[in-house]
Amino acid sequence: MAEKKMQIVLASAEVAPFVKTGGLGDVAGSLPRALVEAGAEVIVMVPKYGSIAEEYKSRMEHLCDFYVSLGWRNEYCGLERLDQDGVIYLFVDNEHYFNRSYPYGFFDDGERFAFFSKAICESLQHLPEGFTCDVLHCNDWHTALAPVFLREFYQGLPLYERVKTVFSIHNIAFQGQYSDTILNDILGLAHIPAAASQLRCDDRSINFMMGALHYADTITTVSPTYAQEIQTPEYGEGLDGILRDRSISLQGILNGIDTDAWNPATDPMITANYSLSDMSGKAACKHALQEELGLEVRDDRPLMVMVTRLTRQKGMDLVTYALDRILSGGVQVAILGTGDYEEPVRYFANKYPGTCAARITFDNALSHRMYAGADLFLMPSLFEPCGLSQMIAMRYGTLPVVRETGGLRDTVQPYNQFTGEGTGFTFANFNGEEMGDAVFRGARLFWDDRAGFDTLVKNAMSSDFSWAKSAHAYIDLFRWLRPDTDAFPSAVEEPKTEAAPKPVVEPVAEAEVKVEAKAEEPKVEAAPEPEAEATVETQPEPKTAEAPKVEPKAKAKQEAEVKLEPEAKPAAKVKPEVKPAAKKRTTTRKSTATKTATSTTKTTASKSTTAAKKTTAKAASTTKAATAKKATASKTTTSATRATAAKKTTAAAKTAPVAKQAPEAASAPAAAKPATEKADATAPAATKTSATKAKTTARRTTRKRS
Ligand code: ADP
Repeated sequence: MAEKKMQIVLASAEVAPFVKTGGLGDVAGSLPRALVEAGAEVIVMVPKYGSIAEEYKSRMEHLCDFYVSLGWRNEYCGLERLDQDGVIYLFVDNEHYFNRSYPYGFFDDGERFAFFSKAICESLQHLPEGFTCDVLHCNDWHTALAPVFLREFYQGLPLYERVKTVFSIHNIAFQGQYSDTILNDILGLAHIPAAASQLRCDDRSINFMMGALHYADTITTVSPTYAQEIQTPEYGEGLDGILRDRSISLQGILNGIDTDAWNPATDPMITANYSLSDMSGKAACKHALQEELGLEVRDDRPLMVMVTRLTRQKGMDLVTYALDRILSGGVQVAILGTGDYEEPVRYFANKYPGTCAARITFDNALSHRMYAGADLFLMPSLFEPCGLSQMIAMRYGTLPVVRETGGLRDTVQPYNQFTGEGTGFTFANFNGEEMGDAVFRGARLFWDDRAGFDTLVKNAMSSDFSWAKSAHAYIDLFRWLRPDTDAFPSAVEEPKTEAAPKPVVEPVAEAEVKVEAKAEEPKVEAAPEPEAEATVETQPEPKTAEAPKVEPKAKAKQEAEVKLEPEAKPAAKVKPEVKPAAKKRTTTRKSTATKTATSTTKTTASKSTTAAKKTTAKAASTTKAATAKKATASKTTTSATRATAAKKTTAAAKTAPVAKQAPEAASAPAAAKPATEKADATAPAATKTSATKAKTTARRTTRKRS
């Protein structure tokens, strides 16, 4: 019988609204609230960055401080508490590491997030009164060492013995790979052979994420399709072998979005509110957006937007390849983002004034206006763990045009021209022509069958992207990990039998993912636009008042096999060699002045001699829903090649990447570029702990890296 409420500590390097650079921040911001609504108690741990707004900092209360051992260092760690929406946020304070204007992109990121991970572990004994962690939920590589430290340095202490660890992969492209010199100097793990070997990814490097994949009790990722994809060499970024080994402990749980923050009916940032029952506001939003971005204010032009990091992952190769065709075909395009492809984007904005607009910046308010004012939302990702933007777009009645990969495949129902069903337009292969075809399927529907288009808009807006469903998937997982807790008394849905473990979401049939590139030739659109040789790619869009019916397809088809692989490395991958922290530094780096005289209970985080209780998720063996094939009932005629989603993508994304790079600062649109025919896809982003270790030797020999 249940004994206590489930108490969860969720750790993430970014948490909206305090700090956000992408989807991770959104998820870490909204999932805890959903879990609290479902009846859990949740603490969220996040670094106290210098960039956090003063309005939040001023509300923080100093909870406690202590020191964290990190190799030979002993680092100050303060915990600053802020309560909001039923969630307790604990900000990890160390000015040296975190008082910076941006979360990532520094040479010492490895050290910074090793500290964060160790601080998370150490904090579990300093949590607010009455809170004892049942499940530690770590997210992405920044927190990946926490399950490692927990088992190697804290295992055996009663408080830690009971903690189950969950590691969520939000993007396997960012793994935290560093020189192995930090193994001794910073992590203090060099003398634990099993740990050292399970972190090592080649003779000179170690990999944080690899550590979590070996050590966490269970692993999740953010969509069922991605859970399958990352077990293949094509998407696994070198970690597919480990993930296949641990596939029994891996499941995909789809992210949700914050449906309050993203609500066209109440959104204060958009020109006019609208909802399913009264859509008139959406037209006003479109007009206002066209005006704001300097586009022609016309109802008869479909307006397609992108709000994204301008990186290879996000399909920018396809975009730069196909933009001439799209823009000269009469579709307006507006792009908001920063990253490696800023120059090509500026180039198109200069080449097609009035039809193409670029805003090279990160602007949350503008993103709201773009989601609301557009007709189509383009997201042709090379890979996409889950993707939030397409869900946000659908919530605002803006139909997504997406590549069928990862979470895009799981969230966008392709338009079926025969039944009129669907919530967007999809294509299978990483190919610029296929993307262009999908864009024009949307545009043609907009021009030729507005009622049909509006039906799709309604379908999209009626879709449920709230966290409720996904939160229950996590609930099932946590309950399975800790059946002794009174998991979630207010969980509305069917309590599952205790015995029946979890796997919540349907994995894609393996065959579907692995199928080789036998793509059928995409069929022709139902009502194809007349093929007009005359309208070549570089021509401006038709000037007629009528909706343009011409798409310069023929010519483009001849050039179809353009190599899309850029020379550039993915933006967000930098590989900073972590320098050993300056030896001169004194061992204790006091951070804030607010070091209070809080209790200093000594806890000896020393490893107990207890035999390593390996809590691998092996017990999960019972379940793993190997079944549930995706019911892709409705499919457009053109994209019948869904099963082939995983091919043709260039293999370049395979290199083991490292840390997310700080986006460049916004800059004004650049001067016109020479009008070349095509824009090149240029490359470019307690208490004192005496970490005395004892008897660590013969442990963890069971799980070797694959
Ligand atoms: P990612 O891989 O970047 O996490 P997601 O689609 O999961 O992609 O989430 C991206 C989030 O970041 C969305 O909320 C999107 O609106 C937001 N976003 C991305 N780029 C910008 C930008 N330039 N300005 C404002 N918001 C942005």
